[in-house]
Amino acid sequence: MFDLNEEHRRVQAVARGVAAAVEPFADEADEYTEVHPKVRDLLRESGLVRHVVPAAFGGASEVLDPLTIAVVREALMGSSAHADSMFGMQGVGSYSLSVGGSEELKQQWLPLVASLDAIAGLALTEPDVGSDLRAVSTRAVLDGDELVVDGRKSFITNGGAADFYCTLVREDDGWSMVLVPADTPGVRAEQGSDLIAPHILGELTFDGVRVPVGNRLGEPGKAFSLMLQTLAVFRVTVAASAVGLAQAALEESLAHAQSRQQFGKPLIELGAVSQKLAQSWTDVEAARAFVYRAAALAQADPLGHLDYSSMAKVHATEAAAAVVDRSMQTMGRFGLVRGSKIERLYRNARPLRVYEGATEVLLDSLARRMSKKGLR
Ligand SMILES: Cc1cc2nc3c(=O)[nH]c(=O)nc-3n(C[C@H](O)[C@H](O)[C@H](O)COP(=O)(O)OP(=O)(O)OC[C@H]3O[C@@H](n4cnc5c(N)ncnc54)[C@H](O)[C@@H]3O)c2cc1C
Repeated sequence: MFDLNEEHRRVQAVARGVAAAVEPFADEADEYTEVHPKVRDLLRESGLVRHVVPAAFGGASEVLDPLTIAVVREALMGSSAHADSMFGMQGVGSYSLSVGGSEELKQQWLPLVASLDAIAGLALTEPDVGSDLRAVSTRAVLDGDELVVDGRKSFITNGGAADFYCTLVREDDGWSMVLVPADTPGVRAEQGSDLIAPHILGELTFDGVRVPVGNRLGEPGKAFSLMLQTLAVFRVTVAASAVGLAQAALEESLAHAQSRQQFGKPLIELGAVSQKLAQSWTDVEAARAFVYRAAALAQADPLGHLDYSSMAKVHATEAAAAVVDRSMQTMGRFGLVRGSKIERLYRNARPLRVYEGATEVLLDSLARRMSKKGLR
């Protein structure tokens, strides 16, 4: 299959250690809609978050390595979606800053992101705008040496908990990204919707929010380039989370099928059950191999391989949904019990197919690219 190098295995072992430490209270952590302090402490002590920040600002490597981030997310998600989100969002929420921020702004925030002393957020979605981000209505207007931001953002991970939000706004005829510190006057965060898979989620209002013009990330009007660069590094890591979740579901159902007897033999010896388990194993291994390969390609040239990252995300998140559903079926009534691990995995699998590019949106753009450029 795909061989991880020694360094990837070392980081994977650290991530597995954190996942194992979170496991005993993962059901509690995954119910949290604010930062779970013990998860934060464990992640902080592990130093793992340094892998989502460049070395010059307290991170682990000069250039972010999607495969390293992927193996960490795979390990964390097998235990806790809360831990996975806390780790992943530090990168997703700060990458526009890493790529497009001034030296001063990066020095101010990134070391705090790496040490989990500042929580990052990325605010794109609005109450009336989801997949079609060109329709955002939050605006920034230049006033002297300040930008004045007005509008609303919705379904923002870490909303209310974050220390800053990289915020997508309309500016003149283009779209800009602006870093808005959460304590700026005029920023209001309210608790977001209560999801089937609980999440730190906030609804944000920006009411005449003034930030220095230096808080604009990248060129005015060029926010889509920053978002594309963020996706090129991080989309494949969501796929890795899906692999970790699918593996955990398979482990649950395999253990159940080996230990429970019906019709005088273990469930795994009943044909339909064994078929399901073998199919799930096949799905998990295929997804993992594809995700690792796409992540390795993304390290060399993230934007050049975004199609593969999109394919990996579609494939792995859909595979995870199928695996967790089969696993639940294999566990019969026991899989339906609230508070069981499989029930939690089932709920946690669902959002993966919606955020950071819904399956249909990704397939739509892949089809357009295939039509234009042919198969490579
Ligand atoms: C747990 C969670 C965390 C989130 N965190 C964040 C965050 O931190 N920051 C942030 O900005 N947003 C966040 N979001 C919002 C997320 O990015 C959006 O949900 C996502 O972009 C999809 O938008 P939507 O839900 O409005 O769906 P819509 O855009 O309304 O789409 C609904 C469905 O229509 C279909 N569809 C839409 N467009 C197309 C198309 N072009 N082709 C084919 N089919 C299409 C798809 O099936 C899609 O699922 C989060 C969402 C969730 C669930």
